[in-house]
Amino acid sequence: MADAIKNLELRNEELRPAILTGLEHVAALHRLQLNRAAADQAQFSDAFTSSLASVNTLLAVAGVVCRIGAPPVADIQIVTDTSGKLIRRCTHPAAHKWDMNGSPI
Ligand SMILES: [Zn+2]
Repeated sequence: MADAIKNLELRNEELRPAILTGLEHVAALHRLQLNRAAADQAQFSDAFTSSLASVNTLLAVAGVVCRIGAPPVADIQIVTDTSGKLIRRCTHPAAHKWDMNGSPI
C-alpha cells in the first residue's frame, strides 16, 4: 500500500504523509471488513467507507489528477471494484484504472 501513490504527482507534497497514513487505515479496515462475519460487517463497512472518503478528500486537496487523454484532467480516487478489491480510478467518462501498485488495469 505504501507504493499506492508513489507515481502520483501531488500539487501539495506536504499531504503525502497524511495520504499514506490514510491508506494504511483503508487497507487495515478493508482486511477487517473482509474477515468479519456478515452480521458484523456493517459496522466495519461504515469505518472503511469513512476512511476511504477521508483519503479521497486528501487526494482531491493534494490535486491528484489523471492527465491521460485529452483535457480536462480528472480526479483520481481510491474505490473498490466489482469484486471488492481496492483500485485507483479516475473520473474521466471512460475511467482509467490502476491497481494499488499503480499498474494499469
Ligand atoms: Zn483518466
